[in-house]
Amino acid sequence: INVPPRVAGRTRVGVMGGTFDPIHHGHLVAASEVAAVFDLDEVVFVPTGEPWQKAGKKVSPAEHRYLMTVIATASNPRFSVSRVDIERGGPTYTIDTLRDLHEQRPDSDLFFITGADVMSEILSWHGAEQMWDLATFVGVTRPGHELAIPDGARGVTLMEVPAMAISSTDCRDRVVQGKPVWYLVPDGVVQYIGKYGLYLGARRNQRAAT
Ligand code: ATP
Ligand code: MG
Repeated sequence: INVPPRVAGRTRVGVMGGTFDPIHHGHLVAASEVAAVFDLDEVVFVPTGEPWQKAGKKVSPAEHRYLMTVIATASNPRFSVSRVDIERGGPTYTIDTLRDLHEQRPDSDLFFITGADVMSEILSWHGAEQMWDLATFVGVTRPGHELAIPDGARGVTLMEVPAMAISSTDCRDRVVQGKPVWYLVPDGVVQYIGKYGLYLGARRNQRAAT
């Protein structure tokens, strides 16, 4: 793995963007592993505003996704959560996320973390051409997805992380089906989902239909 050397006077900050609906241990393990290998001082989790990739799909309100992310990361002194994408409003484009974080942290070098599924789409993103200068891109392995550097991408490093066959989609489906999500998401997130009855809409509809 090609880890850029530390630059005096500059901190190294990982950026983990996601819908986090809900945040799960796949996200947390990936962030922790990249932080260790790339010697990061901090990893900032950035929940999306309106996720444009998921237009038309139901996504929980940003405030719930933000709070679950805070609950899941609160115990790690190197993890934090940013509201930049939520507060900007409208669809989230990674180029805007990186520009905003650069403005807030002019003394930091950014390392944008993506799973293998997202890595393959990255070139199609809005502003992809200008993105490469704003961060080092770290693509991590994810079960069920091929990990490769897309042709035309610059400054991308790939690395293996412990395989966690967990997705937010599966967690939501489990809640709908009444199956447990214990140990797939942090305990506080299990309780938060229960407290607000998240993801039960589909189940209620199912019941209403029968
Ligand atoms: P959904 O099923 O709703 O798409 P998700 O589990 O893919 O949810 P996202 O919030 O879409 O979670 O993902 C945020 C980032 O975390 C993406 O870069 C994604 O590739 C990465 N990621 C998610 N789950 C894993 C995992 N189990 N292992 C490695 N990376 C992951
Ligand atoms: Mg996803």
